[in-house]
Amino acid sequence: MTDVLAITEHRRGSLRDVSFEIITAGRQLADDLGGDLHLGVIGGDVDDFAEELDREGVDAIHTVAEGEEFNHDIYVQAIEQLYAASGASALLMPNTVNGLDYAPAVAGSLELPLVTDVVGFDGSGTLEVTREQYAGKVETTLDVNADAFALTIRPAEWPKAEGAGSASVEAFDADIDESRVRSTVTGFEEVGGGDVDISEADVLVSVGRGIEEEENLPLVEALADALGATLSSSRPIVDNGWLPKNRQVGQSGKVVTPDVYIAIGISGAVQHVAGMKGSDTIIAINTDPNAPIMDIADYAIVDDLFDVVPHLIEEFGGEAP
Ligand code: FAD
Repeated sequence: MTDVLAITEHRRGSLRDVSFEIITAGRQLADDLGGDLHLGVIGGDVDDFAEELDREGVDAIHTVAEGEEFNHDIYVQAIEQLYAASGASALLMPNTVNGLDYAPAVAGSLELPLVTDVVGFDGSGTLEVTREQYAGKVETTLDVNADAFALTIRPAEWPKAEGAGSASVEAFDADIDESRVRSTVTGFEEVGGGDVDISEADVLVSVGRGIEEEENLPLVEALADALGATLSSSRPIVDNGWLPKNRQVGQSGKVVTPDVYIAIGISGAVQHVAGMKGSDTIIAINTDPNAPIMDIADYAIVDDLFDVVPHLIEEFGGEAP
């Protein structure tokens, strides 16, 4: 029997979606291995977080009340100790900016083989782990021949765990060596674009190179306003400096999973699709019926965005610029 320890993630008082996705992944792995699923919650309002995380499939939640926000040095020490105490031999961590910050250090000190950016696995025999390479063009399957191992899980690849659970919740008293805590979070500063986090939006209006000029952006902004949606974009828009980096969807931007994703003048390059393919409903507006975005769109309007978008704005009670 092999238990699984999955580490959750929060920021500025809220659990991130990946925390619920890692429950689904962790349950799948625990079922494959015939063990229990333990969750680790480190820092912040751990009791509130534990209540929220008690979803179907979770066997035990361990809370570590150390610090408010993510801190590399605290996480590394807490996870090392939690892993040893939980008896788990599989460690799952989110493949996020934070996860990638501590996962190699933890795997190194625990001497666990680490596979990062995992998009699938089968643990029913020898563990087979799937990763994508070359910007999603190549899928690689690795055999992990080890009794104990660590994986980082790509966000938005597993559905969020639903349903209330009945996990045991225990406070874990980690012995944090303060001399090893060399940094503290003193505040947050958003890089342009205010407080917008496109990965939290329910509806995204996303604009691509088809918009042609920065002067045309108010058109898509008006549609976003009319729909109560958030504006995001493909990379060229950000590279041109027309929108801040935190609006970029894709491999080198953010992974988003909104209910509705409206891709306007976006071709659907693999690097873009890597960031939005988990959206519930994808609507494409594009003059090219053969654009790759059409392969994943649920609905498409094959027409000139400069004709279509003003009509949509009007339809939803807005005013085209
Ligand atoms: P284009 O590919 O130029 O597509 C524009 C689309 O608009 C076309 O399909 C065209 O038919 C349509 N169009 C033109 N005029 C109109 C009109 N009037 N009405 C309607 N439709 C119209 N890209 C990302 O988006 N996110 C990433 O994170 C990212 N990371 C990358 C990382 C690496 C390492 C690399 C190499 C590339 C990355 N890219 C990323 C870039 C990616 O390869 C594409 O170049 C980019 O996604 C293309 O953006 P686009 O679809 O807006 O532009």
